[in-house]
Amino acid sequence: MIRDRLNRPLFDLRLSLIDRCNLRCRYCMPEEVFGPDYAFLPKERLLTPAALERAVRAFVSLGVRKVRLTGGEPLLRPEAVDIVARLARVEGLVDLAMTTNATRLARLAAPLAAAGLRRVNASLDALDPVVFRKMSGGRGHPSRVLEGIDAARAAGLDVKVNTVIRRDLNDSEIEPLADHFRRAGITLRFIEYMDTGNHHGWDHSLTVPAAEILERIGRLHPLEPLPPSAPGEVARRHRYNGLPVEAGVITSITQPFCRDCGRARLSADGRLFTCLFATRGHDLLELLDSRAPVARIAERIREVWGAREDRYSELRASQSEPRDKKVEMSYIGG
Ligand code: SAM
Ligand code: SF4
Ligand code: SF4
Repeated sequence: MIRDRLNRPLFDLRLSLIDRCNLRCRYCMPEEVFGPDYAFLPKERLLTPAALERAVRAFVSLGVRKVRLTGGEPLLRPEAVDIVARLARVEGLVDLAMTTNATRLARLAAPLAAAGLRRVNASLDALDPVVFRKMSGGRGHPSRVLEGIDAARAAGLDVKVNTVIRRDLNDSEIEPLADHFRRAGITLRFIEYMDTGNHHGWDHSLTVPAAEILERIGRLHPLEPLPPSAPGEVARRHRYNGLPVEAGVITSITQPFCRDCGRARLSADGRLFTCLFATRGHDLLELLDSRAPVARIAERIREVWGAREDRYSELRASQSEPRDKKVEMSYIGG
């Protein structure tokens, strides 16, 4: 296990498979910026399945046990099932998961599970189609996402649902979503709307604090807090009284968790980022694409992690916006 300058071990990797997406969520890829002229990564710049496998082997050799595939939308990557199959065979990797908007999950859940995927986080911001489309830039439909969730459960995947709440856009959906997934027996996690990237006009007033979300759910269905299920877990877990069903909140804004953050992120073109709000990444592409031994890749990761001091969310209130542009969430994955 390797540690950064604040003594935080590296234990978790987010691997972005692609920077494109078929939705245009207001809080991530607003259409007016990510339009037809936006310069997405060309296909030939994406890490090949073999390079992704080499990256994961290097991270696992340094103590990482958990890898989450993300994007953009990871299921837009035509080789997604092949990538899962390769990574599932990496010795020492115990937890292979994916975060997806689930619009393509109905068809892909069974092959992904057969390839070795174990867990899926499906993002769903509203059950009401009109509200859903306000959040998604007018694309997609909640029924497709719900079909994807059903298919994932039928394929034996462990499923959780993620919801970002943006005040005055989808906060009316807090209770209906909680009600629906409580009845379905699926863990629902509300993510506080964050100031990621550079383009969606985040403002504190648009974040609905986790405490307010929990209070609103609790008025409908009383909740009791649960301890974290693993060290470094970012969700604050709760259980509905008398039911084995959880609801959680991710309090990135109101109660930052930088001191326990052991998460690295690798973009789809091989740049290593040590924080979701970083202004620069570290290029591993040459190493990943070449025949350099995995130990050499691991050495480079160790150097980068060893110099890490990031704690953006803890400093958010006391600092002005970084002068350089932050990395986009759709480029490195949430
Ligand atoms: N496209 C996939 C999806 O939506 O699940 C994977 C990538 S997406 C960037 C990963 C997660 O980040 C999603 O659950 C999304 O809701 C969340 N996210 C994106 N922008 C966010 C923001 N500004 N604040 C909080 N969460 C955000
Ligand atoms: Fe796409 Fe996910 Fe970003 Fe929405 S949050 S635009 S689904 S990458
Ligand atoms: Fe980790 Fe950066 Fe988020 Fe803090 S702000 S929890 S260091 S990713």
